[in-house]
Amino acid sequence: MGPRAIEKPAADWNRVPPTDIAVDCHVHLFPERLFEAIRRWFAQAGWAIPYPHRTGEVLDLLRAFGVRECWALPYAHKPGVAAELNAWMADVQREHAMVRGFFAVHPDDDVADLARRAVDDHGLCGMKIHCEVQQVAISDPRLDPAFDLLERRGLPCVLHSGDAPYPYTRPHLDVSRVAERLRRNPALHAVIAHLGAMQTAEYLKLMDQYPGLHLEISFTKAPGVAELDKFDWNGLARYAERILFGSDFPNLTFIYAEQVENWLALDWVRQNHDAFFGGNAHRLLSRKGDMRLGA
Ligand SMILES: [Zn+2]
Repeated sequence: MGPRAIEKPAADWNRVPPTDIAVDCHVHLFPERLFEAIRRWFAQAGWAIPYPHRTGEVLDLLRAFGVRECWALPYAHKPGVAAELNAWMADVQREHAMVRGFFAVHPDDDVADLARRAVDDHGLCGMKIHCEVQQVAISDPRLDPAFDLLERRGLPCVLHSGDAPYPYTRPHLDVSRVAERLRRNPALHAVIAHLGAMQTAEYLKLMDQYPGLHLEISFTKAPGVAELDKFDWNGLARYAERILFGSDFPNLTFIYAEQVENWLALDWVRQNHDAFFGGNAHRLLSRKGDMRLGA
């Protein structure tokens, strides 16, 4: 999760992975000007990102990689921007059949109204929270209306709730904050980004308690990215029905195909190929068709 210099020819970055990917559940799409600002921030932080950020180019490249569907994740870095972001995401979802749009909320906005409109008016598929960027803990009571709605409707959320790559941010980003949320919303379908690094072992224990808890693997087995905390990669086989492939594309400091290859090297991933590369994600969205029925 640290910077990596560009050292290979450009063509190599667009190498096609050795398998088709039914769902990449961690992709970022933003309106162009906002994405340009995000890229400037990454550049200042020393991240060399060779991939495009304009929506059409990002989706074209994903299709070329063999990706059939992607979860597009926005986040609201300040109050007052989530409503517009969500409306924009709804347009993208309508225009591009491969996109499953997620919505953003900001804790200082009217969270209940944002979430209800995102789901009922825009038909968005779930919610994304980025704890560090948004400076909010998953357990923050201001987020209750959104999590309550998702739990009632059986819709997923993707949570960047781990402290990697931000050192010294606990207890704000500690796994205990997610545990607190799950005590309130025990049936929540939550997907923890980046395997919950650097507290993966603790998240796995929480998965034993909450069947709706899932992990997503982006940035965890990629060249140039720091080692995760110690856990048994083969032991993850026990959770094969609840681990999802995601990439964090297009904000990568490594070659897209390399992350796919490194996970395919694990026996349990090859044995559970279809679940890992999309089946688990499809199951999480299977209730989407019901959501207009209300709850
Ligand atoms: Zn991300």
